[in-house]
Amino acid sequence: MDSKEDEAATPELLSFFYSRFFPYKTYVNWLNYETESNGAFKNRELSFTLPSDAYLRYNSYNGEEDLKAEIMKMCPTKIDIGAIYTAKPKDKKTMRLSAFKPVEKELIFDIDMTDYDEIRTCCSGASICYKCWKFMTVAIKIIDVALREDFGFKHLLWVYSGRRGVHCWVCDENARKLSNERRAAIVSYLAVIKGGTQVSKKVQLNRTLHPFLRRSLEIIEKYFEDIVLKDQDVLGSEENWSKVLNCIQDDEIIKKLSNKWNGSNSKSSVQKWDELVNELEHAASASGRKYSKKAEQLQICKLEIMFQYTYPRLDEAVSKNINHLLKSPFCVHPKTGRVCVPIQPDDCENFDPFEVPTVSSLYQELNLYVEGERKVHDYEKTSLKPYIKYFDNFVKGTSKEAREKNRSQASMEF
Ligand SMILES: [Zn+2]
Repeated sequence: MDSKEDEAATPELLSFFYSRFFPYKTYVNWLNYETESNGAFKNRELSFTLPSDAYLRYNSYNGEEDLKAEIMKMCPTKIDIGAIYTAKPKDKKTMRLSAFKPVEKELIFDIDMTDYDEIRTCCSGASICYKCWKFMTVAIKIIDVALREDFGFKHLLWVYSGRRGVHCWVCDENARKLSNERRAAIVSYLAVIKGGTQVSKKVQLNRTLHPFLRRSLEIIEKYFEDIVLKDQDVLGSEENWSKVLNCIQDDEIIKKLSNKWNGSNSKSSVQKWDELVNELEHAASASGRKYSKKAEQLQICKLEIMFQYTYPRLDEAVSKNINHLLKSPFCVHPKTGRVCVPIQPDDCENFDPFEVPTVSSLYQELNLYVEGERKVHDYEKTSLKPYIKYFDNFVKGTSKEAREKNRSQASMEF
C-alpha cells in the first residue's frame, strides 16, 4: 500500500525542498518563543543526520539566516530537535560540563506503528495501510483530549512522522519547563499498556474507572468494532484469537471458547466477540458473591481487552527525558519522500498519510504552476500550503502566549 515508497528523497530533491519550501522564519519563531535577541533559539540543540549517515549533535544557530545557510550546505536527511540549554550547544566543547545543562524542552510524544505489530494483522514493521492508520487516529484523539482536559495544555502540535507514526509537541510554557520527574509522572498517568512482548495481558483496570480511563473508553467504544473486529479481524485466525483469549484469566472460559471457535470458520470476529462477552458475563454472574474478586475480574476483562487492542502505545523513553531528541516537523522522510507535516487533531480522521506531499510531487506542482499577477510564496503554489498555514497559525498562538507572559512579567517588575 506504500504507493509512494518509490519517491525517495534524492539529494537534489532534498536541496530543492530546503531552498524553496522549508518554513525557516516560522520555525525559528516557534523555537524561540519570543525571547529577546533569539535567546531561546540560540541555545536550542538541533541535530543533523547527513546523507553519509553521519550524525552531528549539538548544532545551534543565531537565527533564520545561519540556520538556512547551514541546512542548504549540509542538506540533512533528518533534523532532530533537542532541548534549550544554559548556553549555546555549539560551544559545549569549550565549557565546563556543569555549566551546560538542559533547561527547557517541549513535552513530546512519539507513537509508532511498529509498536502495534502484536495487535495489527494487516501490516507489520515499517508498512502501513488505511486499516492500521486508524489506530493513529484513535491515539491522537485519546492523548490530545487528555493533555488538554486533564493537564490544561493548549498548544499541541501533532506531526506526521513521514512514514508510520505521529509525534506530539506540547509547547505550553509550563510543559516546556517540566522536570524529568514531572514528565515521567505525566507519562505514567497516560500509559495504560504495560509490559513487553512476553506479557500477554498488558492492561489491568480497577472496577471503578478513573475519569480519564472512562473518557478514553468512550473513544475506544466508538472504534473498537470497526478497527479491531472488522478491519483487523483479530478473532479470525487461531493465531490471532488465541492472543485475545490469553488476556482472560480463566482457563475454563479459554477452553470453552477455543473449542467453539476451532470447529467453525464461518463466524465473524464480531460474532465471536459477542460470544466472548456473553461467556465473561455468564461466568461473572455464576461465580456470584462467593468469589466476588473473581467476578470483578471477569467483568472488567472485556474492557481490558478493548483497551489492549485500541489504546495508544507510547514510546515512554522519548517523553520522560528533557534531553531526548525528536525528529523535526517539516523534515522529509528519506525513504518515502513525504514531508513531516502537521496534523489537525480535531480533523485527524480525515488525515491521509498517503496524500501527504512528497518532495517529488512538490517539484512537479511547482513546475506546473502558472504564474499569476500576484506574487506568492512557492509553498502557496502547492499542496503544502494548508500545512504551512496551519503551522503559521500554531506559532502565532505560542508566540502570543509568550508575549502575554513577557508583558505581565514586565508590569510586575515595574
Ligand atoms: Zn495495515
